Amino acid sequence: MTHVYNFSAGPAVLPKEVLRQAAEEMLDWHGSGMSVMEMSHRGPEFISIAKQAEADFRELLGVPANYKVLFMQGGGLGQNAIIPLNMLGRKPQPATIDFVHTGSWSGKSLKEARRYANVNVAASGEASHFTTVPPQETWKLSADAAYLHVCTNETIDGVEIDYVPTVQGDTPLVVDMSSHILSRQIDVSKYGVIFAGAQKNIGPAGLTITIVRDDLLDHALPICPGVFNWRAVAEADSMLNTPPTYAIYIAGLVFAHLKKLGGVAEMERRNIEKARLLYAALDADDFYQNRVAPEYRSRMNVPFYLRDESLNEQFLAGAKARGLLQLKGHKSVGGMRASIYNAMPIEGVQALVDYLNEFAGR
Ligand code: PMP
Repeated sequence: MTHVYNFSAGPAVLPKEVLRQAAEEMLDWHGSGMSVMEMSHRGPEFISIAKQAEADFRELLGVPANYKVLFMQGGGLGQNAIIPLNMLGRKPQPATIDFVHTGSWSGKSLKEARRYANVNVAASGEASHFTTVPPQETWKLSADAAYLHVCTNETIDGVEIDYVPTVQGDTPLVVDMSSHILSRQIDVSKYGVIFAGAQKNIGPAGLTITIVRDDLLDHALPICPGVFNWRAVAEADSMLNTPPTYAIYIAGLVFAHLKKLGGVAEMERRNIEKARLLYAALDADDFYQNRVAPEYRSRMNVPFYLRDESLNEQFLAGAKARGLLQLKGHKSVGGMRASIYNAMPIEGVQALVDYLNEFAGR
């Protein structure tokens, strides 16, 4: 097999050590004679896998005891409906949700939310084509919002917010961390709800992790589907119905692997180094261009354009020939994008930087 580096935005690269372990355990997990895929989610083997995965995840992120970690399905987009259906009961109907519109994913979230509530777009980066985020002092927050929704890493636009947004009074802060969870240290106690699809920094697609503060479990609207009701999911230890068992197992292997490497602090250190290396190559001259304001540049998703876009196909073909895969930008914005999640080694970023320099004739 030729050696490749996979820069996909998600589903994305996973640690090779984890894939190897999964391959070894594929037919017979720990002498059980079964593959994890074949196990009942109610059996002692799988329950031990799920419990360990949750414990390791809590340890990695320092999740306080008054928060539930829910293993759910439906992806990030599913949460765009599940969150309002679970939280709008905090206020008389029709309630208002505050949104900060920072790019494609928060845009999708607020569009979905309009089906259930009044949406107040408190701030928008649209006028800048989502290359920056309006300063917090200018956000027009409502006095009585059911919650404030922010996407702290916009996977398509490459915009990352590195601070904890300030809320009005006791308004809960709901954050989409799908594409940068576990990449940097966070203080979970500052958030009401954190959610993330697994397929970037956690594991395979199919699993969505939602961290919910205990006091927010009981405000579901009567129309909230039973299977997505946070309180019910929490009481059933995320086994209200059949969970995505294999995805939870692989996520658990990733968590154990991260712990071995030194946890989220060590990941953050490596991610800072990788991002610096890549942005420096993009900024070296005007052959390439990343358009995001430096203080909002994502450490995880790095979109960039060739000054001469007629070279795009040639650039991608040359990259592929060197084993640098999935660099084409999202179809909605064009150009290129390199996603450099936790599992992307610095050697992969260096290989990309070498190619960027070579292609630019430096
Ligand atoms: N939010 C963010 C920040 C994302 O990057 C994505 C997927 N790329 C989603 C939400 C949607 O996730 P899913 O495809 O799992 O529904």
